[in-house]
Order: sequence, then C-alpha cells, then structure tokens
Amino acid sequence: MPEDPKNSLNETNKKALQFIEDVTNNADEVQKRVLNEILSRNANAEYLRRHGLNGHTDYQTFKEVMPVVTYEDLQPDIDRIANGDSSPILCSQPISEFLTSSGTSGGERKLMPTIEEELKRRSLLYSLLMPVMNQFVPGLDKGKGMYFLFIKSEAMTPGGLVARPVLTSYYKSSYFKDRPYDPYTNYTSPNETILCPDSYQSMYSQMLCGLCQNNEVLRVGAVFASGFIRAIRFLEKHWPLLCHDIRTGTIDPQITNPSARESVMKILKPNPSLADFIEAECSRESWKGIITRIWPNTKYVDVIVTGTMSQYIPTLNFYSNCLPLVCTMYASSECYFGLNLSPLSKPSEVSYTLIPTMAYFEFLPVNRKNGVTNSRSEPTSLNPNEHHELVDLVDVKLGQEYELVITTYAGLYRYRVGDILRVAGFKNKAPQFNFICRKNVVLSVDSDKTDEVELQNAVKNAANHLLPFDASIIEYTSYADTSTIPGHYVLYWEVGLSSATAIPPSVFEDCCLTIEESLNSVYRQGRVSDKSIGSLEIKIVESGTFDKLMDYALSNGASINQYKAPRCVKYTPIIELLNSRVVSNYFSPKCPKWVPGHKQWCMHQEPKKES
Ligand code: AMP
Repeated sequence: MPEDPKNSLNETNKKALQFIEDVTNNADEVQKRVLNEILSRNANAEYLRRHGLNGHTDYQTFKEVMPVVTYEDLQPDIDRIANGDSSPILCSQPISEFLTSSGTSGGERKLMPTIEEELKRRSLLYSLLMPVMNQFVPGLDKGKGMYFLFIKSEAMTPGGLVARPVLTSYYKSSYFKDRPYDPYTNYTSPNETILCPDSYQSMYSQMLCGLCQNNEVLRVGAVFASGFIRAIRFLEKHWPLLCHDIRTGTIDPQITNPSARESVMKILKPNPSLADFIEAECSRESWKGIITRIWPNTKYVDVIVTGTMSQYIPTLNFYSNCLPLVCTMYASSECYFGLNLSPLSKPSEVSYTLIPTMAYFEFLPVNRKNGVTNSRSEPTSLNPNEHHELVDLVDVKLGQEYELVITTYAGLYRYRVGDILRVAGFKNKAPQFNFICRKNVVLSVDSDKTDEVELQNAVKNAANHLLPFDASIIEYTSYADTSTIPGHYVLYWEVGLSSATAIPPSVFEDCCLTIEESLNSVYRQGRVSDKSIGSLEIKIVESGTFDKLMDYALSNGASINQYKAPRCVKYTPIIELLNSRVVSNYFSPKCPKWVPGHKQWCMHQEPKKES
C-alpha cells in the first residue's frame, strides 16, 4: 500500500521536533561529543599539532592549550590552502571550497574553508524550519512559497578551489537542486530561475512566476529584508513589462538565459484577467499593502529583520499591511548556528536556539559600555585570564551578553565570529539568544559591513581632494539611509575653508567616489554587481553644526571630557538636526571598481605582459 502523504508529513514533522527536544535536553552531552568528534577526526591536522594538542581529544586539554583566535590569526594558513597546499592544515578531510563571508579582512571577503559533509549539516538545519513553523501556521503544505533567491559570482583561488558565498554553494548543490518533492519546499521560482547567473534575468523570471501563481502563494520572503524590498522595488519598476508577458503568455526577449526561459514557459500561460488585475493594483497611487493585494493568501513574510536588518521593518510593514515578519534562522559562512523556535514572535523579541550538533560553541562574556561595543581598539588576542572566561553553551547566564566563539568540523578552532548575543531564555538545557549586533560595524544597508576604521581611511583618502582649495574636514559623521531603495551611505561633513576659493561640485563628487573606491569589496560588489546599495552621498553642513551636536549630547547627559563626535548616527532627532543644517549635497557620479575574487588573485591571474 502506498503511504498516505499526509501521514508521512506528520511523521517527518514529529521526528524533526523530537530531534530538537533531544538535542536541547542533552545539550551538554551533545556538545562534548561534538568536540570530541571534531578533535579526533582532525587529530593529525597541522594546526592542532602546532598548538600542542598532540592527538589529545579531551575537553580539558583543548581548553588549556588552544588559543581563541580571529580570522587574521588564521590568515596565513588560509592563504596556504588558497594557494594550493592540500596537506591537512586545518582539517583532515579535504577542503572542498571556500565560502566567502560578507565579513571582510583587509578590505576583502573572509574565506571560510568548508568540507563536503557540512552541506549535510546545513541541510539538516533547513529541514527543521518547516516542522517548527507548521506548529504555528498549519496548512503551509497546501500552497507555495514565493522566495526571491539568488546565486552570486564565483572565483577560483590560485590553488584551484572555488570561492563563493555559502548560499550560492547550497543552491548549486544537489541538496537543493535535486531535493525530492516536499510540500514545504515547493516554491514559485523554478530552480533554473534561481540558478540563472544574471541577476536581472533571475529576478524578472522569479517575479513573473510569482505573479502567475499569485493565488497559490501562502508565504513570501528572501534571505534578508533588504533583498525582499529590492524585489518589491523591481516590481514597481517593471510591472508593465511583466503584465505584458502575463497577458500574452510570452516572455520578454531580454530574458535570454535558455534554461530560465524554458522553466518560466512551463508556468506562463496567456492570462489577460490576471494581467488586468495586477496592472490595476500596481497603478494605484499607494503601494501600501501591495503584498496582500497581489498575493491575497500570504500568511507571513519570511525574512531576517534582526540585527541591522531591523531598519527595514517599517517599510516591510507598509508593503505587507503588517503581516507577521518571520525570522527563521541564524547562520553564517563559518557555520549554521540555529533557529527561531517561536517564529511568530515580534522582531524585537526574536531569539535563536543554537542547535548543539552544528558545532562546538563557546561564549566570551562582553560588557558593553553605554550599549556600544566598539572594540576595534580592544586587543584582538585574549590575555590568558580572558581565555578562562569562556563558558560553554549550557553555562551561559540569562540576560548576559556574549561574543560567539565556535569550533567547527571544517577546521575552525575557538574562532571568534564577531557576533554579540544576549541570553533571552532556554529551550530545555539549550540557551536561546537575541542577536544584538556584529562587533565594530558602523554602516550597513545590505550584507555590507563597514567598520569605523574603514570609514576613517576612506574619508582621509577623500579629504585629499580638498587640499588644493586649502580646505579640510573639521568633523564628520555618517548615516545608513534606507528611506531610499536601495539604501545608501550618507556622510555629513563640516568643512573648514581658509581661502575664499569656492569648491566646485565636481570635487565633492570626486570625494564621494574616492570614499566608495576605498570601502571594502562587499560594499563595492553591492554597488556594482548586486545594485543593492545606492550612490554614496556627502551632505555639507553649516559651520558650527558639530558643536550643536555636542550641545545636544551634553544636554542629554554626556560628559564633556569624554565627548567625541559619533562616527555614525542612528537616532532620529540627531539626523533631523544634521539635515536641518545641510547647505549642499553631492552623489557619487558612477560606480566604484569591483571584480570578483580577491585583489591578490586578480593580480595573480593577470596575463603576463610580453617583453
Ligand atoms: P555571512 O558569513 O556573510 O553569511 O554573514 C553571517 C553574519 O550575518 C552572521 O555572523 C551575523 O552577523 C549575520 N546574521 C546571520 N543571520 C542573522 C540573523 N538571523 N539575524 C541577524 N544577523 C544575522
């Protein structure tokens, strides 16, 4: 007798929830087992031997001898792997590829080594999401998810390993591409549209398929809030073309990718009444609630709105008529960490339960001063006492903040991720964490993360354009303006002039471009390739503005001795104060330079000049 699909779905859901119960109930035992497994499998790795582990696989020796490290500490080993050394440096198993993080080091994406079996672990975490969701929103197996998912460009290291973002790696893997039919991973976007390398064609095809199946859609989303808003913006710009295609059952000739075209054509049928309906909705003056208007059966928006993405909550509420915003998981290139077991909780209350089988987790207590963790100036390596402050997963204290430190199967040992988390509660013995922030990041509109030092250097480079005019920057601050789509960086400059020569607008435009050229490669990729970041803007403010800013801070209790102009502002009254004193503004006239891969590899791969 064939199995009743409903029963088998219930069984799968039950198993997944039981798994979560088991690993959270036995969090400590699971963590110790994971550590032991990682250390025994990698006992011959050069890195472990170098630090004196000498084949020990026990918890005590690991805690005593292994240093807590940052990416910069590992860079020489990572460079060796990238350059083709395939000996077991960090891990016994062969490194299958590098995952390129949105976190940067020296202006370039960090490279995270990974191994084949990690795909299985990531896939396991994904498989838990819908069984959890089903407890709160049943019936999701009766329709489809409209998710805007994309792949990004790949590069090859000099040693021949692929380097690409973790999601590109996952979508191209058989775990995603060849997934068996499952009502929970039934998406409106055919795989071929997700795997289309041209981002315009990919978005167009996915939107077209989402529109054609509008009544079947029960949930919508993207990975990050910024990506979903970009999709709505795309609809705003392109709905006449899309409606034309729906009316006629033909696909726009700009979509040239053969597999994307073919997959869309299987879904697209001439449907003049649907085209009329979409046209009418998109022509209305206000786009308030456009999601619920065009996709009337949508129950929630599945996007990450924790961390810096919280800046997009008002926009999402506007477009979705305040549908629940659901943050399902917390993950990174280094490792997938955990999931949200109460997916309908408010964004400000979201907590993630770290799944103890994913990696070995440790926590470094942090004490933020005035709510700010600006620890660029903190030493990156820990002194021996701090080493002993690290606590295990089951020993964290409610309400305390910690920096996450991980040991992974793929060869990161006691690695500081740079995320600050706060313990919000417990699921059985496993803690649940609010995501507080990424250390040091001052500006971010998409997956870009700009720190204070990068910003400072960029402004310093730009200031050189003012020298011929005897002008200098007296003070500056910055702001991530997400009221525009895409969002963009704004710099407020107070400029001091010692001569009467006026500075032409083109000079400030050059300053904008120089800042963009000086920012890290994730920022520049966002500008050039993903178009997820708009032109950088400089706003010149009246002289005396930063004194007013100081007066404001002092009147709110800041100490005059300790006051420093903030390098980034977020608080609305301060932004209003700055905006009220703007005398002129300038935008970057073009995109900065960006090419895929690391700058060292590009140099490495450049053809030799003939002599
Ligand atoms: P990447 O390595 O580029 O995938 O970026 C991973 C980083 O993105 C994490 O270390 C976090 O800083 C951030 N991140 C990932 N998931 C979340 C989430 N659910 N909420 C807030 N930030 C997140």
